[in-house]
Amino acid sequence: MMRFPIQNKDLRISRISSGYGPRWGRFHRGVDIAMPQGTMLVAPADGIVYVNATNRGGPTEGYGHYLILHHPELKKFTLYAHLRKLSEHRVGAKVKAEQSIAVSGNTGNSTGPHLHFEIHEDEHKFPARVNNHGGEDDPTIDPVKYYGLKDFMGKSSLTGADKVLYPEPEPPKKEDKTYKVRSGDNLSKIASQFRTSVKNLVEWNQRKYPSLRSNPNYIRPGWVLVVREGKKEDLEYTVVAGDTLSMIAKRHNVKTNDLVQWNQSKYPGLKKDPNLIFPGWKLVIK
Ligand SMILES: [Zn+2]
Repeated sequence: MMRFPIQNKDLRISRISSGYGPRWGRFHRGVDIAMPQGTMLVAPADGIVYVNATNRGGPTEGYGHYLILHHPELKKFTLYAHLRKLSEHRVGAKVKAEQSIAVSGNTGNSTGPHLHFEIHEDEHKFPARVNNHGGEDDPTIDPVKYYGLKDFMGKSSLTGADKVLYPEPEPPKKEDKTYKVRSGDNLSKIASQFRTSVKNLVEWNQRKYPSLRSNPNYIRPGWVLVVREGKKEDLEYTVVAGDTLSMIAKRHNVKTNDLVQWNQSKYPGLKKDPNLIFPGWKLVIK
């Protein structure tokens, strides 16, 4: 999750003045955040300066002084337009999350001091496939959705948005366990492992990872999720193609031998060859 590109203290002097989407016959690929000229902009995540230039036409026509950061770890680009002056960071320079990157302004085709801010997904599509109609090949994402700022659209300031943008992580309850996301995990897998639901996992973790609300399918290795184990009831797991008994055992924190034990009366073949399981089998996990 990236943080917001302006500091918490500047939210009260900032407001969303125009949202993402079709506008005046073009596609507005970002969000406009009105703020006084000279407001400090900060890197939303670690990144590398990708473009630091003054626009003279092309797909970023009218952007004035603008800056693009690449965030390789997140596979994202962020773009800042109408800057007061060029950024002091050179192309290729590394920037740290929350480090100052530029100051807002009113350059280019702009009707008042504001930051035009874009988030681009997927390095492989950037920038060649940027288009002006928001079609399927447009790799931009709506920052309002990304940050959960829907309630602040059209408001006279972003006061109060800090609770959405910089939520205090919920202090873990004593009995809470945490789970560190591994590559290949998804929420439903984790939910089934802890005998709970995706909905619960989202609820317990959305303060720490707000993007879960808009996109529960997106989790990253290394995230530490709060999990509260459900009641210890037998769980039924339906085997899918590609499963092996040891994979299922590992995923549910049980031993392969136990799986055999619990299910051999229903599937006697298991005892002979635990590697022979078939999609559709319903295994009991205790
Ligand atoms: Zn704009």
